[in-house]
Amino acid sequence: MRNKVIIDLEDKKNSAKCPVCKNKSLAQYRPFCSSRCADIDLSKWLNGSYSVPILEMSEADLDELDSAVNEKEFFEKKD
Ligand SMILES: [Zn+2]
Repeated sequence: MRNKVIIDLEDKKNSAKCPVCKNKSLAQYRPFCSSRCADIDLSKWLNGSYSVPILEMSEADLDELDSAVNEKEFFEKKD
């Protein structure tokens, strides 16, 4: 079992693929195959193609959230 896990990990290491074009990745540009693919990936991030939740809250939002939480507690206590 342990041997199998090690072999699997070695397999993954040896057959690392570029996440952009699925070509074999080069150590130089890992995990990409080229600087071009690295750029493509970066631009995807910048364009928001990847859904990364970025939480930007103003003070007013925080106040609102605070009162929402307090309200919830209030109703829970009431029941
Ligand atoms: Zn690539």
